[in-house]
Amino acid sequence: MNNLNDTVAYFNGKFISKEHIAISPDDRGFLFADGLYEVMRSYEGRIFRAQDHIERLNFGARELRFNLTDFGHLIEVAEKLIRDTNLTRGDALIYIQVTRGAAPRQHRFPPPETPLTVYASARGFASNMEEQKHGLKVILIPDLRWARTNIKTVGLLPNVLAHQEARDRNAAEAIFIRDGFLMEGTHSNIFAIKNDQVLTPPLSNHILNGITRRAVLELCDELSLPHSEQPISEGEGPKADELFITGTTVEITPVIATDGRPVGSGRAGEVTRRLQEAFRKMRT
Ligand code: PMP
Repeated sequence: MNNLNDTVAYFNGKFISKEHIAISPDDRGFLFADGLYEVMRSYEGRIFRAQDHIERLNFGARELRFNLTDFGHLIEVAEKLIRDTNLTRGDALIYIQVTRGAAPRQHRFPPPETPLTVYASARGFASNMEEQKHGLKVILIPDLRWARTNIKTVGLLPNVLAHQEARDRNAAEAIFIRDGFLMEGTHSNIFAIKNDQVLTPPLSNHILNGITRRAVLELCDELSLPHSEQPISEGEGPKADELFITGTTVEITPVIATDGRPVGSGRAGEVTRRLQEAFRKMRT
């Protein structure tokens, strides 16, 4: 097992050991959370939907008006990191972060020639098979985040606090509620199954356009499961026949309780299981 700090990582165009990376205290990522990130996953060395992750990063860079809005080169960077850190076997996560760079602290954008800070690293990862099989519990929590959570910024404090509250209350994820409707989890999207229909909240400025969410909607088509992107109210959601969350790390994980009350039978549901099975085939 590699020590975290002697692992090779990518930093501003170079592959260097993590311990030699020095990020300026004037970096706007540090000062303002003025940055974007992505988490990609590889299976046996192959990155799952890398292009989709890069497109989401490019979208964020356009929305934040970064001076660079095409990060296509980071796919090769990620592939090299997987090879160079011996992660071509099993699963791995590749973390990418891009910030507006270092400049004297003031709110206005720095001069346009200020280079972005670009960082990427990889580490081995294994799914939580226990949770994928038996499900996890969630809490519902008011969505106190800003109104542009479709942009994957590193400003994750509300997500961190909500997730910790879930852990403190014997649950494993928190689902954000806004105006009486389920939005998404702190690091996942949410799906419900009601009368054999697969439902998920529609895309908006309040939820992330999840790569796994999109894959699951494709799988619904393949499996001829009726599905609809429609609002799920906080009254209806917990009464669904099945609930599950999706995401790069959790893949498809059943939700068996909300705020301590069982969902459906209180066990991982049949439709969820079918989708998990189909997802396993899709990712290989
Ligand atoms: N919503 C939020 C807030 C997230 O952080 C994530 C994880 N990236 C997701 C949804 C799921 O997105 P994806 O399937 O692309 O990992």
